[in-house]
Amino acid sequence: MTYRSGRHFLQIPGPTNVPDRVLRAIDAPTMDHRGPEFGVLGKTVLEGLKPVFKTKNPVIIFPASGTGAWEAALVNTLSPGDKVLMVETGHFASLWQEMAGRLGLTVDFVPGDWRHGVDPALIEAKLKEDKGHTIKAVCAVHNETSTGVTSRIGLIRKAIDAAGHPALYLVDTISSLGSIDYRHDEWGVDVTVAGSQKGLMLPPGLSFNAISDKAIAASKKAGLQKSYWDWAPMLTANEKGYFPYTPATNLLYGLKEALDMLLEEGLDNVFARHDRHAEATRRAVRGWGLEILAKNPEEYSSALTAVLLPDGHNADALRKVILEKFDMSLGQGLGKVSGKVFRIGHLGDFNDLALAGTLSGVEMGLKLAGVPIQGSGVSEALDYLGEANTGATNAAA
Ligand SMILES: *Cc1c(COP(=O)(O)O)cnc(C)c1O
Repeated sequence: MTYRSGRHFLQIPGPTNVPDRVLRAIDAPTMDHRGPEFGVLGKTVLEGLKPVFKTKNPVIIFPASGTGAWEAALVNTLSPGDKVLMVETGHFASLWQEMAGRLGLTVDFVPGDWRHGVDPALIEAKLKEDKGHTIKAVCAVHNETSTGVTSRIGLIRKAIDAAGHPALYLVDTISSLGSIDYRHDEWGVDVTVAGSQKGLMLPPGLSFNAISDKAIAASKKAGLQKSYWDWAPMLTANEKGYFPYTPATNLLYGLKEALDMLLEEGLDNVFARHDRHAEATRRAVRGWGLEILAKNPEEYSSALTAVLLPDGHNADALRKVILEKFDMSLGQGLGKVSGKVFRIGHLGDFNDLALAGTLSGVEMGLKLAGVPIQGSGVSEALDYLGEANTGATNAAA
């Protein structure tokens, strides 16, 4: 590879662009993870995560990708044969339910069209039917990164309550935490699963479980096998800021910096920024005359937008042109929508001009790849971005 000047545009919906401040924080000597300084760092990040999840309860940090935290959520709370209720919102919901099946759980996986989020009314009806309370957990993906659809986690909570059902509520926020409003305590979530490489602006390698008192109580009786993922030794060691095995020390330096940055900007401002960039992106897509995969405006994702290509055009061919000509990576279509959609990531460390550059690359790429477009989506987006900051909100609640 010869040198390509300028920054690569990493506009996939995770891993996201890592800000310079975070890169510099990581670039420091690794310290003794059992020494006195480490406990201070450990306590700082373990406490600092709580406001981001909007919880007063512990948040556990694993040196792992998000998939590890999925497994931890299941094996700490459930027993072999337990029934879990999940909805096929897209690729990530499908992978999580496959994992649940492999772990020995019985999954009621409700089919979906990959264009809608979890329907709260469906959850209420399913739980009301379950008079014997055989369903032990409801699992939902907050932001389906494969489709750009956000499920309404607060409304699903209300549906569980309306059914008067005691099931645990497990939520994947791997691509929403730090980008889209999320409230672990207020929404009565029992385990929130998250990862470092999306809204938290870190490299891949850390993942998280925020846990309720009910989840901790369930973990004392859960019968699935676990060792590495066991919360109990984590919670004990974390009390003093330490870990039962070697943590990803340098990523924790980065986490400390990223948490500072989110607080400096203010979480509400971070969410409003994501909403605004998402709205500008949708205006661009409509300006091109293309279709957004998400069907329900109340479920539009503020973290990414998945765009359908017209029949006869391959989204991966388009992505290849854009990568080669403009040095920009866009998200590929995953699973059932492979080749049919491309995904524009507009989450993490991002601003108006980075979005303008991203959309310009897409528009030029569409023309070069011979995809027919109606008009300039970029100019629609720029008109919107150039208006006073409207603080438009489209986040699903
Ligand atoms: C990225 C992602 C995952 C997988 O996380 P890994 O870090 O790749 O293991 C799971 N769920 C969602 C919603 C994601 O966006």
